[in-house]
Amino acid sequence: MTPPGLCNVGNSCYANAVLQGLAAVPIFGEAILADVAAGGRCAVSQEVRKLILDMKLTSGGSGRARVLNPTSVLRALAPELRAQAGITNPMLPQDAHELMCVLLLVLSKAAPHPSKLHKIITGGQMRSVMGCTACKKTWASPPRWEHAQDYVCIMLTPPPLTSVATPISTPISSSQMLRSYMDPETVGGWTCEACHETTDVVRRVQLRRMPKMLALCVPHVGAFDRSRPIHPSERFIVMQPGDAAAAAAAAAAAAASSASSASSASPRRVMYTLCSVVSHTGSSTNGHYTAYSRTPTTPLSDGGGGTLSSWYLCDDESVKSVPSDTVLFPSDAASRRPYIMFYMGVVG
Ligand SMILES: [Zn+2]
Repeated sequence: MTPPGLCNVGNSCYANAVLQGLAAVPIFGEAILADVAAGGRCAVSQEVRKLILDMKLTSGGSGRARVLNPTSVLRALAPELRAQAGITNPMLPQDAHELMCVLLLVLSKAAPHPSKLHKIITGGQMRSVMGCTACKKTWASPPRWEHAQDYVCIMLTPPPLTSVATPISTPISSSQMLRSYMDPETVGGWTCEACHETTDVVRRVQLRRMPKMLALCVPHVGAFDRSRPIHPSERFIVMQPGDAAAAAAAAAAAAASSASSASSASPRRVMYTLCSVVSHTGSSTNGHYTAYSRTPTTPLSDGGGGTLSSWYLCDDESVKSVPSDTVLFPSDAASRRPYIMFYMGVVG
């Protein structure tokens, strides 16, 4: 099913690519359409819902893509873009990641909790923990989980090249970058406030929950060398720590009823599958955004349990089918560079 194109109204490629990318995440589309009453008075929620519904209804067969107009979404979002990100004219070229953050923030505020949409947008919880290597005291930031920020998007940082012999042109995958982001990092020359030693501190990310929709963003200016090819991983697994509080409650309930407890605080596997990629070409001041979107996986009609999905390049109005290798193994790193990779997670 060919997804519809979105016409470029002024310089809206940055918004079109994000909307195309989000629309290709099945749980996002389902949640925003399911919560009919969600964010009833929020103009942004209403317009995004209308557009996603139109996108769903106008998905063509194998024929020419139909074209929809995103102006109403941008108009509704304009006051928020101004207030949250200082974007005064959404019709001028802007940053796709900034728009995505503002859009998801507005939708999360409008979505009632509990609702599917609220759960998806505020899905993950992580914080950072620092530990003194001398006295082993640790500090979590924030100290209490209740104050930890919910997240959907992780801004990845470039991992160091493993050795001086690793050429800068060695491709790196999104899952490798995520692992590196999660890996403990040792920083020297730090004075511990507990033992007063000047020593090393180990910083690490502590997870409580992984989100159902995960956006991995690779900065296209600054720290990342644009000549290093990025390969969006098609699938990867993250181990999410078990929910100790829920496990304790289940164990207490089981003990009270003299039944054996089946629940535990053991880690759970979250399998992430790539749904779409927002890519960027050109320089940070003069670039163009496009999206690769994957049609939802549909079971093959032979009943053999196989599935079929196809990749499309959504370039504003134009939508065309592309081989999966174009998306997963982009050969020319500098031309169409993965910027935001949208994943859907299933706990297994
Ligand atoms: Zn110490």
